[in-house]
Amino acid sequence: MDLKGKTALVTGSTSGIGLGIALTLAKAGANVVLNGFGDVAAAIAAVEAAGAQARHHPADVSRAEDIEAMIAYTQSEFGALDILVNNAGIQHVAPLEVFPAERWDAILATNLSSVFHATRLALPGMRERGWGRIVNIASVHGLVGSVNKAAYVAAKHGVIGLTKVVALETAQSAITCNALCPGWVLTPLVQQQIDTRAQLDGDLDRARRELLAEKQPSQDFVTPEQLGELVLFLCSDAANQVRGAAWNVDGGWLAQ
Ligand code: NAD
Repeated sequence: MDLKGKTALVTGSTSGIGLGIALTLAKAGANVVLNGFGDVAAAIAAVEAAGAQARHHPADVSRAEDIEAMIAYTQSEFGALDILVNNAGIQHVAPLEVFPAERWDAILATNLSSVFHATRLALPGMRERGWGRIVNIASVHGLVGSVNKAAYVAAKHGVIGLTKVVALETAQSAITCNALCPGWVLTPLVQQQIDTRAQLDGDLDRARRELLAEKQPSQDFVTPEQLGELVLFLCSDAANQVRGAAWNVDGGWLAQ
């Protein structure tokens, strides 16, 4: 897969899944615009070491005006935005009755409204150039629920609905829109949940094993690199007719 001359914007790509996807796209030759609040210098160095040109934009994707500035920056730095990966996401775990309304608003803005804004702003350029790829990192929680994750589950179900609408509105063009639905991936977002479970006895290994055993039959984590390779496949001609899919990558979570 050769992405030389193409430009990718990956939101939330200073760590975890986003960084893994950015590195895979960089290795395939794409210019990459990173985004996120983590270690920016390390992320840029990693993408450059993969042989690509890298930039970073500090947009807070929960703010529409920041997203507008980030898309404009991408287009002015590299002349185009060809591959948009909507990945940035946050989590909060609490029963519904005590779920803080402010966390609900933040999760909906970061995990769902950001996908609407980035997509509506990226599409005109893609239509002009006659090619585009939009990949939304949803979750198994876009397809099934779990207790104590009301905002996250609602937002991710919304991402999958939005993915289908965008796929239909672009169906007769060379622009495709799909969602990936990972199960557990060992990133800072999931490490937080393991740390919370381990608070009682400090046994991180047990907490990690129990987290996997509850939901993921393979009892093994999905990796950011595996998700990166799937994004790469969705960028290929072989995926020209993959439209509106919600592709679970979950060690068997949804097969149960
Ligand atoms: P992570 O915490 O490692 O990375 C999240 C990234 O998003 C970071 O770069 C962070 O700085 C950035 N970010 C957070 N809020 C932001 C904001 N308002 N504006 C811009 N950037 C922001 O998490 P991750 O596990 O790599 O998650 C990435 C995506 O994958 C999320 O959408 C998450 O819901 C999804 N996902 C993760 C898992 C998993 O098991 N880790 C499973 C399914 C889906």
